[in-house]
Amino acid sequence: MASIDVVVAGAGAAGCSAALSLHDAGLSVVVVEADQHYSQGCNTANGTGLVTAVGTRWQSDAGVEDSLELFVRDVEQRTMGTADVTLTRSLGAVSATLLEWLESIASVPWEFDSEFVYPGHTVPRCHGVPSRSGSELHGLLLSALEVREIPILVPASLVDVELALPGELEIRVAYPDGADEVIDSRACILATGGYGAASGLVGEFIPSMAGARYQGSAFHRGDAIRLGRSLGAGVRFLDAFQGGRVVTWSGLIDGWCPVAHGGVIVGEDGMRFGNEVVGYSEFAGTMPELAYLILDERVLDSCVGYGEVRANLVADALRVVESIEDISRIVGCETAAIAETLKQCRLYAEGVEPDPFGRLEWGAVPLGMDARLVVTQVAPALFHTQGGLLINGSGRVLGEDGVPTAAPVWAAGGAAMGISGSGCAGYLGGNGLLAALGLGYLAGCDVRREFDDGQH
Ligand SMILES: Cc1cc2nc3c(=O)[nH]c(=O)nc-3n(C[C@H](O)[C@H](O)[C@H](O)COP(=O)(O)OP(=O)(O)OC[C@H]3O[C@@H](n4cnc5c(N)ncnc54)[C@H](O)[C@@H]3O)c2cc1C
Repeated sequence: MASIDVVVAGAGAAGCSAALSLHDAGLSVVVVEADQHYSQGCNTANGTGLVTAVGTRWQSDAGVEDSLELFVRDVEQRTMGTADVTLTRSLGAVSATLLEWLESIASVPWEFDSEFVYPGHTVPRCHGVPSRSGSELHGLLLSALEVREIPILVPASLVDVELALPGELEIRVAYPDGADEVIDSRACILATGGYGAASGLVGEFIPSMAGARYQGSAFHRGDAIRLGRSLGAGVRFLDAFQGGRVVTWSGLIDGWCPVAHGGVIVGEDGMRFGNEVVGYSEFAGTMPELAYLILDERVLDSCVGYGEVRANLVADALRVVESIEDISRIVGCETAAIAETLKQCRLYAEGVEPDPFGRLEWGAVPLGMDARLVVTQVAPALFHTQGGLLINGSGRVLGEDGVPTAAPVWAAGGAAMGISGSGCAGYLGGNGLLAALGLGYLAGCDVRREFDDGQH
């Protein structure tokens, strides 16, 4: 292949955003993507597609006042001061521009989701496409690439990056049939996701999730860490991850809405074991191997706007039952245990007694009042890892000394360190996609700046 300006590895949110940003900046770009079925398999396609953004016109239209300072404070508090402030500030500052840019170049019809308030966001900040599905968002990004005739080599894995001469990279790409080729370029953006599928790395850095189900892309093999390290890059927050729940009867995520609207989760003894609305990432760390989400038809009706709820309905994984006995049969516990749990929840919801787990929000009406109950089986899961290559606020990859690597390499999304600090409790809903889309955009602009400054 002829020499091109930039190779982007990975065609998820981060890679697409980077490719569009580079194209906007007048640079030639080729994307390489390892997964033949990436439009269904990448993490971007499998999420809810909700993105955090601060100070947007959609927030203003809904009468929500927000500010960069408030966002930075929320992230600091949620991560107990461990998140990188420069990166947090940079992503928060660009977030409103980012959504406007994606609206204009990829026709993303953003809607403000005032109902999705993940614990820790002081005000609602999540924006999504109408279907609340990551695959719709991803499809729009891919269409924008197609319109601009940005080539995607697929299936093709980035396997090696070498600095041939100052400002000149030799990028090796391998094909499934064993063939490979070297592409000469002036810069590379690593957007290959994290390492959730690399059981060895998960065992090493996140031992608490070593045995958990993994709900992300099979191609999150830690390639960015391996490639980055070979170029002298540093790494950060390798123990950080987003946890969540999977509906075992469908293999799909259950989503935030059912618990936020009043659902409760019980263990195999029929008893609750934690505050369901503490945040699904944090909650996953407290879950037994199997648990049961109980809601009712009224809660269900209020959640059908969310893609994952609709998908679970189609998969017949949200089962309407006629009685508490039916639930206890499914859970395999005493009927009295479920009856007692629901009775207690009513008392907490009505403020008669405080919930021992500290839950304060219980939805509009206590569960099961004038509505049939609904049940599904859930299990804790690792959604995606949030640690990665050490970067500055524009995604430029840095060595452990904080100096940009000699090789002109940037990282975005799951390939780079995120803004969730350490562990699972620092995740704030929507911040994964903000880091992917935001860093892709910023990295594209930064590459242009470095080229213009004559650094290459
Ligand atoms: C179930 C689930 C729900 C989620 N919900 C949300 C949400 O609602 N909001 C939010 O903010 N975040 C959410 N997240 C996290 C969010 O999806 C990610 O933060 C974001 O999609 C990461 O984008 P990415 O481009 O880095 O990764 P991806 O979208 O996974 O793209 C990475 C791509 O790189 C490819 N690749 C890997 N290695 C190579 C290689 N060597 N060469 C070439 N290509 C390679 C992969 O095949 C993949 O297609 C969710 C994650 C999951 C799993």
